[in-house]
Amino acid sequence: MNELSPLEKALENDALWLEDARGGRFSRYAIGDQSQEEGRSAWFCNDCGAEIDDLNEGCDECGTGQPDPDEE
Ligand SMILES: [Zn+2]
Repeated sequence: MNELSPLEKALENDALWLEDARGGRFSRYAIGDQSQEEGRSAWFCNDCGAEIDDLNEGCDECGTGQPDPDEE
């Protein structure tokens, strides 16, 4: 059993790297059918490969880039 992360699945479907953010913690990829105008992009966590909803909130899966709770 080797389950692919969302990022690995996207890469298998020819996702195209667009940019990095947050010091390389996250990367944005063009995903979906790029021949369509509907082609979209998504952010992914470079630690665990999860798709990221909000860069400022960090990764829900592994905690990378989440606001430090000790910091007021
Ligand atoms: Zn993660």
